[in-house]
Amino acid sequence: MANKPLFVDVILPLAVRGCYTYRIPEPWQASSLQAGCRVTVPFGPRKIFTAVIRRMHSRQPHVRETKDIISLLDENPVVSEWQMRLWDWMSSYYMCTPGEVYHAALPAALKLESETVVRAILKPDAKDELTASEQHLMERLAGSEGLTILELQRKSGRKDIMPAIRRLTERRLIELEERIGERYKPRTIRCIRLSDRWSGTEQISELRAKLSRSKAKLRILNSFLDLVREREERTDLTAEDMSWQTVIEKAQTGGSVLQAMVREGVFETFNSTVPRLPVLQEGSRMPVHLSSMQQEALDNLHSQLAAHQVVLLHGVTSSGKTEIYMHLIQEYLLRGMQVLYLLPEIALTVQMTRRLQQVFGGQVAVYHSKFPDSERYEIWKRLMEQETGKEGGLNIVLGARSAVFLPFKALGLIIVDEEHENSYKQHNPAPRYHARDSAIMLARLCNAKVILGTATPCIETYYNCKTGKYGLVEMRDRYLNLELPEVRVVDVRKARKQKAMHASFSSLLVSSIDDALKNGEQVILFQNRRGFSLYTECHECGWVPRCRHCDVSLIYHKNSNRLRCHYCGYSAPMSRICPQCGTETLRMHGFGTERLEEEASLLFPGARLARLDLDTTRSRKSYEDLLERFEKHETDILVGTQMVSKGLDFNNVRVVGIMDADAMMNFPDFRSYERSFQLMSQVSGRAGRKQGRGLVIIQTSDAGHPVIGAVVRNDYLSLYSTQLEERRQFGYPPFCRLMEITLKHAKKDLVDEVSLKLAESLHLLPGCRVMGPEYPLVSRVSGQYLKNILIKIEKGSGLEATKAKIGEKIAAITDKKAWQPVRIIINVDP
Ligand code: ADP
Ligand code: ZN
Ligand code: ZN
Repeated sequence: MANKPLFVDVILPLAVRGCYTYRIPEPWQASSLQAGCRVTVPFGPRKIFTAVIRRMHSRQPHVRETKDIISLLDENPVVSEWQMRLWDWMSSYYMCTPGEVYHAALPAALKLESETVVRAILKPDAKDELTASEQHLMERLAGSEGLTILELQRKSGRKDIMPAIRRLTERRLIELEERIGERYKPRTIRCIRLSDRWSGTEQISELRAKLSRSKAKLRILNSFLDLVREREERTDLTAEDMSWQTVIEKAQTGGSVLQAMVREGVFETFNSTVPRLPVLQEGSRMPVHLSSMQQEALDNLHSQLAAHQVVLLHGVTSSGKTEIYMHLIQEYLLRGMQVLYLLPEIALTVQMTRRLQQVFGGQVAVYHSKFPDSERYEIWKRLMEQETGKEGGLNIVLGARSAVFLPFKALGLIIVDEEHENSYKQHNPAPRYHARDSAIMLARLCNAKVILGTATPCIETYYNCKTGKYGLVEMRDRYLNLELPEVRVVDVRKARKQKAMHASFSSLLVSSIDDALKNGEQVILFQNRRGFSLYTECHECGWVPRCRHCDVSLIYHKNSNRLRCHYCGYSAPMSRICPQCGTETLRMHGFGTERLEEEASLLFPGARLARLDLDTTRSRKSYEDLLERFEKHETDILVGTQMVSKGLDFNNVRVVGIMDADAMMNFPDFRSYERSFQLMSQVSGRAGRKQGRGLVIIQTSDAGHPVIGAVVRNDYLSLYSTQLEERRQFGYPPFCRLMEITLKHAKKDLVDEVSLKLAESLHLLPGCRVMGPEYPLVSRVSGQYLKNILIKIEKGSGLEATKAKIGEKIAAITDKKAWQPVRIIINVDP
């Protein structure tokens, strides 16, 4: 070969800048090593990490000493070239290290710190003709259970042991084992088979005769043989069908009889590996027949997709978007392509999985970070290894944001459902990426198409449609022309004066709920705060209980009778007496979901209530259970935070109450009007989906607010145009790019000093407007002081170059020793 690569640049799973270069030891230079394969490398004094090869080359690096790769883990790449290009883009766009992206991208089983263990398997003899160094190693290994490469290096006092290890492995005198293999434990089940002595037709007859005196044993034998016969006829049986358990269940005997037969040498036991991924059936139905409005939208999508890489499907809630996706998915599958279906929230995957599996059966895999790592690993491996378009392959992946990292082979389409949701953005840790935007990049890299779907598009997305960057298809009516719910607004200030409020409920809301309950219909109450009250205050002296570690007031939780911090989890017992003035005048203000639930239980005593918020859904199971009970109408009133607004499809919801619209709208953020509109419209969309027109009641003290008006009229366009105008005026996206830099440290002075210096140096950059440093809304969290700098980067000022310069300024700060302890967090597109 002309240019045998001598070095590899690797990505380490650490927050270190850039790639690191290692030498390829001689014996491997001609091996199948390539970019995307994993290797283990030493890093730091005594650590070994699994690194991914980014590229191979023969340029001698400038550093003094280049270390050797320790071992090769893969014969074929586990990460493909285009995946690594997505990583490159992510680390440069979101200003984080390639290692942070790598860390987020791979399931743990593929990236854990690894220690290669070397074990002797054969004693060498004279004809093996070992060299001195090989001899030396074998002596070190003799009598040990296995040593790691680092231990071997230490014991033998030499570093260059890799070539000897390689030669000994090739001659099968030693073997290497990766701890990685142990991290991922395949699921095994105990199985049985006939021992050799009894295999064969004659032997089985003989065995029958021998066992004829024990009915139980005969039953076991017969059940086993039946199962074997079944397997021969059918190919879809898994190892489970011959499992110990299956056999004794079929024979209806206890395990002890089978145990005895194993002892007698009739059966042998062995362990068989089975996939963790459930084996799924074929889909049981075709996609539904589309209505003419849906068909028209589908045709439009096709023509828009022909001209654009990205198309927005803007359709009101319940217009039947999901059914349209089904048709599109089927088309891509028929063309041998894969589909990625992204959802903003793990919780939503349950309903969607069911819907997809009904049609596409076992081709659907679900992938998100809350899944056990071993399952994620299996999905990764299957996608990497499978031939695409084949039957039985995983051709549809339903996932939350981390699914953009999967190794697709033939990705044709990405659907980003509820594209406006801000949970697509990862906040912590880095990479702080937006899954929608990353999906668009991913599509560009694999030449796939993207559909963004929502009833309430993100302002930036809609702007991209208006400027022609994205295609646009709109659906204005619900499926079957179901009416959108009627939205009514209650002015709570007026109502309070007229004594027409019952706790937090207006008279209109109370009577509407009563009607719904009488008709056997359901109700959703939406309040965007959890807990019981928003804050507690002493009426005498104004004292407010606050968190010790954060700059926020504590929120009372009645269930536990404690005050809790929603930022750090700190809690303190609630007392009736003010610790400052000693009077008994602590009052609670505002209300959260917990209080709402209590009030509802008093106002509607017969109703079955449930609460859906972070406090009641700590586990995936509890979330699913709550939703299922509501779906089955085992609950009449569901009280919840924005969790109830997410694309769930309920059939029997008559009334939706939006308890406190003001809290949302007054939140100090440039997106708060947009977010309030989206939230209120989405929650409203839960009303009246199948049976008759729903009713939405918005309680506010600002009934004339334009956002409320837009929700009432379901008028996205008016919201869009007023918001766009505001953003143009004040310079917010889409008219500029935002970047937020947060500085964090336990010493307030240090944070103040460093943030001021950083802001000063950033001020000098052309094309940037620097705002701050300022304390964020909550300026201390978990004992750490925070300060924010907001940078507006003008459009057309060369984003890449500007970011690089900002990066340099930050690096200049962190280079200074006294300032190093301050954590600097960069959030692009916050
Ligand atoms: P969206 O995704 O726009 O909110 P969905 O696709 O979930 O809307 O449709 C809303 C409801 O209407 C669902 O229960 C769905 O099964 C039903 N639906 C939509 N289109 C059809 C159709 N063509 N035939 C039968 N049912 C449909
Ligand atoms: Zn007091
Ligand atoms: Zn706190």
